Amino acid sequence: MKRSMTLVAGLLAGVFAFSAYAAPQTVEGTGVGKHGDVTVAVTFDNNKITDIKVVREQENKVLAAKVFTDLKDAVIATNSADLDAISGATFSSKGFLDAVKDAAKKAGVTLSKADKKAIKKAAADLPKVSSYDVVVIGAGGAGFSAAIEAKNAGANVVLLEKMPAVGGNSLISGAEMNAARNWVQPKLGITDDSPELHAEDTYKGGDKKGDMNVIRVMTNNALDAAKWCRDYIGVRFIDDNLFWFGGHSRKRALIPVGHTGTEFITKFQTKADELGIPVITNMKAEELIKDKNGRVVGVKASMQGSTYTFNAKGGVVLATGGFGANPEMVKKYNPSIDERFKTTDAPGTTGEALYMAERAGAQLVNMQYIQTYPICDPISGVIELIADSRFDGAIMLNQEGKRFVEEMDRRDVLSQAILKQTGGYCWVLWNDKIGAISKTIEAHPTEYEAFTKQGIMATCDDLKCIADFTKIPYDSLTATVKRVSSMTGKGNDKDFHHRSGLVDMSQGKYYVIKAVPSVHHTMGGVRINGKAQALDKNGNPIPGLWAAGEVTGVTHGTNRLGGNAYTDIIVFGRIAGKGAAEAAK
Ligand code: ADP
Repeated sequence: MKRSMTLVAGLLAGVFAFSAYAAPQTVEGTGVGKHGDVTVAVTFDNNKITDIKVVREQENKVLAAKVFTDLKDAVIATNSADLDAISGATFSSKGFLDAVKDAAKKAGVTLSKADKKAIKKAAADLPKVSSYDVVVIGAGGAGFSAAIEAKNAGANVVLLEKMPAVGGNSLISGAEMNAARNWVQPKLGITDDSPELHAEDTYKGGDKKGDMNVIRVMTNNALDAAKWCRDYIGVRFIDDNLFWFGGHSRKRALIPVGHTGTEFITKFQTKADELGIPVITNMKAEELIKDKNGRVVGVKASMQGSTYTFNAKGGVVLATGGFGANPEMVKKYNPSIDERFKTTDAPGTTGEALYMAERAGAQLVNMQYIQTYPICDPISGVIELIADSRFDGAIMLNQEGKRFVEEMDRRDVLSQAILKQTGGYCWVLWNDKIGAISKTIEAHPTEYEAFTKQGIMATCDDLKCIADFTKIPYDSLTATVKRVSSMTGKGNDKDFHHRSGLVDMSQGKYYVIKAVPSVHHTMGGVRINGKAQALDKNGNPIPGLWAAGEVTGVTHGTNRLGGNAYTDIIVFGRIAGKGAAEAAK
């Protein structure tokens, strides 16, 4: 576990205290880190933190990396700066948290208090046995969707989360969401998409190892799920652009404002608060309880060394995510993904709930299919969202300055191709022309600053400067850029058949970043049917057990296509929540 914060978020509905409405404002605050001042600019909207930009800091890039990513995300998700430090970066964490507190004070905003004594007391006050209609395990996108739908179907529901903060991988994801026939497509001239085409892309992209019945449920319900997020949950999507991820035959991924899962998770948390759904953090599900007829009727869980029983009249929804942050488990199921790989995943993505499901009789499938994300930080393993410019024409080069793959190909294809290059890494290069479309520098200013300081990213006026920075031979670099610029537009890339077309890169400014593949998504998991019911070894539903999201194993086959995770988690989270609520009636 990489971070150790102590927080019971929303233990009972209403733990988050909000003051009266206040207009959006951005205020700077300063704290003292290990190597001097840490200054942040915090944006508050209606008394809630919606964004934090690091303005100045001189902390150790490696040790403090998670302070400016994970801790920052946790502060935004919980609207609190009262969190414990990232282990190994105590002073940097304190400097950062103090800077946020300073900004809140100047802005006149009262942040949520995670009074540690109160947390201990809350844990002590928590009944050892409690009964609900529906128990949802895991507070990522799938878990929140399930809990909210269960509640709205009339169920008394509780959401258990083992980590100190909610969000899981859903929080740190780029959070794009595929939905055929979405409201942005016509604006971009896309009128020939369909859920069936989306299903075919998904099935093919996973080498036909997914379950087409389950996939069709996902793609047929995708648009409704996206509208639910937009209209009911309050998720804001960019209304004039979409992402075109590798393996998709159409551009169909909606982009949340901010290009990360923070937009979803903060809105989900607010909705759960509004509905009075208790979200109990630091509560780890350990065992599913079955009655004598084999029905799942509850969960045994632990918090601070004590055991708690949550009875579930209708059933339990397993929404515990994957196992990408568990290197032993990754290697066990796929020995080729060994210690060389870091991970992009949230620290709670350790998968022991899959063994819990297996002990309860669930069938695990496709466990060996583990996706590496091709474009990640060689130091921390996190995704370089800033290099999403790749979807708008950025090219991938090896150390010799040559392209070696179609940049829009599937993640597994790209990852394998990168590992075969000198040093097992690549450079992603783009110019202002591409940047004007993808706007990733503007969308990810903190990454831009951090990667630049870390020395893996450079911004240059010309290719000479790019060659000096990357040590790619200048002649080779210019030859490649010249060739790319001579083959622009759809259908003209004679070398690698870039599906959306190369872009003229003859003029700067140029941006370049070094990248490696990192473990990203575990495709395997619990076999479910289209009703999100967990199936046993014979393919029969296990009464009382539903599963949704990354913990399941039949949607993505060998390889999940970009933008399908959010579609998967919201669609099946909703179905599972409703199903379990119905069963309680
Ligand atoms: P998904 O994308 O499928 O919603 P996420 O990774 O976003 O998955 O969320 C899964 C959540 O489940 C994470 O926050 C993780 O910490 C939590 N979790 C995993 N195992 C357990 C467990 N045994 N008990 C409670 N929560 C768990």
